[in-house]
Amino acid sequence: MKTIEKIEQSFTDNVKEYVEQVYATVKKRNPHESEFHQAVKEVFDSLVPVLAKNPHYIKQAILERIVEPERVISFRVPWVDDQGNVQVNRGFRVQFNSAIGPYKGGLRFHPSVNASIIKFLGFEQIYKNSLTGQPIGGGKGGADFDPKGKSDAEIMRFTQSFMSELSKYIGPDIDVPAGDIGVGAREIGYMFGQYKKMRGGFEAGVLTGKGLGYGGSLARTEATGYGTVYFVEEMLKDQNLSFKGSTVVVSGSGNVSIYAIEKAMQLGAKVLACSDSTGYVYDKNGIDLSTVKRLKEVENKRISEYVNEHPEAHYVEGCSGIWTIPCDIALPCATQNEIDAHSAELLVSNGVKAIGEGANMPSTLEAVEIFLKNKVLFAPAKAANAGGVSVSALEMAQNSARLAWTFEEVDAKLHDIMKNIYNESMKAAQEYGAPGNLVVGANIAGFVKVADAMIAQGII
Ligand code: GLU
Repeated sequence: MKTIEKIEQSFTDNVKEYVEQVYATVKKRNPHESEFHQAVKEVFDSLVPVLAKNPHYIKQAILERIVEPERVISFRVPWVDDQGNVQVNRGFRVQFNSAIGPYKGGLRFHPSVNASIIKFLGFEQIYKNSLTGQPIGGGKGGADFDPKGKSDAEIMRFTQSFMSELSKYIGPDIDVPAGDIGVGAREIGYMFGQYKKMRGGFEAGVLTGKGLGYGGSLARTEATGYGTVYFVEEMLKDQNLSFKGSTVVVSGSGNVSIYAIEKAMQLGAKVLACSDSTGYVYDKNGIDLSTVKRLKEVENKRISEYVNEHPEAHYVEGCSGIWTIPCDIALPCATQNEIDAHSAELLVSNGVKAIGEGANMPSTLEAVEIFLKNKVLFAPAKAANAGGVSVSALEMAQNSARLAWTFEEVDAKLHDIMKNIYNESMKAAQEYGAPGNLVVGANIAGFVKVADAMIAQGII
């Protein structure tokens, strides 16, 4: 090794050590928050070459600052159920980073919600939102409320109580929540109504994912699923592959999955399976999307009911079994850590060619490593599922301009944004010595813009 190379190597080793120290502090300061630790580790591992090339990020303590949310709000959500019992849930909003725009990110209503889950989601949102090229900072919120089996009136009372408190901390130029797991058009509608009542004014830009009749954007419903497929399409194209004629497995059957299935089918793929939290359906003829849409979007039923209408399909209890199905492309669109090392090994040994993450952090760190090691094309969530929040930002733009674009206009912008995220991520990966590695590329491209904006705005 030449002397200069030796010096560079020892500097890189020092940077690695520094990053490990900051990570150790994160673990110590946020004990028992394993999902948050996982999200931080994934980003930090990508940043070593960036810090080695730009030591001013170290001097400016960007890592130490970026892992500390600007504000964490946790609050009581009391409500009365249909039997007259008083129930109490815990609500959260993590306002993580506002360097490039107002906090932006969804609200998740699910019994698994806790500080760790909301912090991991909020942390990822910083980089995802930066990647979209839109002026939006990172935030996330939610509650440990289980919408399953609740009446419409219970959902309304809960969301109103939730918004009574949240309304103190949000606004069109401050923090703009939206949907996520368990929060769709109905919940956004009730929250918007409550916010309007409390503020005494119609501030359309305070929430996104609104109904089309009161400030919502066309194509927002489809955006996350379509965006994931647009992103994967770019990745496949680079290797002379495509959705056409490919077999696809899509986990989940919520908003992201349904529109990922729809777009994959439009591009000529055969979607073999989808799932919910209790099990999965496998239909060798290809999933009938109209049945899934009706069961999930209209009738609020379990995916197991699919086989009543399609006796040739199979229903299997337990959702992780879906990864035993051989396929060309896997789109995990259900929830965090749904693909572990074992499922990743199975997918690889069954010949999977590409993974596109529609959900947030659906693959464990070990699973990602297995995919990368085996040269499976891998589209990480931050980049691949940024379509939803991108169209949310377009909804904000339409609200500010007081106009509404057509479906085709919004869809075309979404398509461009996804192509751009792919190109930017590939470019960053190449520039920092990890050609083709979209995990590294997306983390770096997202990080640099935020870090530079933080530095420009001083120590605040
Ligand atoms: N919850 C979605 C996400 O994870 C959408 C957020 C939004 O539209 O603000 O990005």
